[in-house]
Amino acid sequence: NSPSTDSKDLRAKLVLLGDSGVGKSCIVLRFVRGQFDPTSKVTVGASFLSQTLALEDSTIVKFEIWDTAGQERYAALAPLYYRGAAAAIVVYDITSPESFSKAQYWVKELQKHGSPGIVMVLVGNKADLHDNRSVSSQDAQDYAEKNNMFFIETSAKTADNINQLFEMRLSKQSIGAL
Ligand code: GDP
Ligand code: MG
Repeated sequence: NSPSTDSKDLRAKLVLLGDSGVGKSCIVLRFVRGQFDPTSKVTVGASFLSQTLALEDSTIVKFEIWDTAGQERYAALAPLYYRGAAAAIVVYDITSPESFSKAQYWVKELQKHGSPGIVMVLVGNKADLHDNRSVSSQDAQDYAEKNNMFFIETSAKTADNINQLFEMRLSKQSIGAL
């Protein structure tokens, strides 16, 4: 996934990984459309959504955001899914330790088979459910630091930190490295 030589027309593939039900599709819909619909089956499908973003230095990047169509439920996702991705958002649910373990599995998978230099962001979603928290922010932060990842907690429901996730965590350097 090499960016175009025209710096005004950079493209980057961004994938979301994580257990089924952690809120990946809701995060994408909240970011791209500004919506949260708790009732709809929000899985976007096999294709991707596009969103243009200005980075810290005003460089415009068109992100191709890949969401799964629920395949994360079954065995291993095809490496085809994350092949060529400049960035990966690995999501868990702060109320689910199992989903945190699964996130760590995906991080290892990306370290082994992802693009060299891939930017990884660890996301603890459903931060609005803090009364049922069972993954501590500190544990997640420590894990992220050990693995050279950014870490942020979000809520697709309240929109908390969703824009920050996409805007502040990606620098031109990281995207241009690919
Ligand atoms: P995916 O399987 O990872 O794509 O998860 P979905 O986006 O389909 O969300 C799974 C369920 O979690 C849905 O019922 C959502 O309404 C709910 N959900 C997603 N994000 C949040 C959030 O930030 N807070 C709360 N309370 N629920 C959420
Ligand atoms: Mg989904």
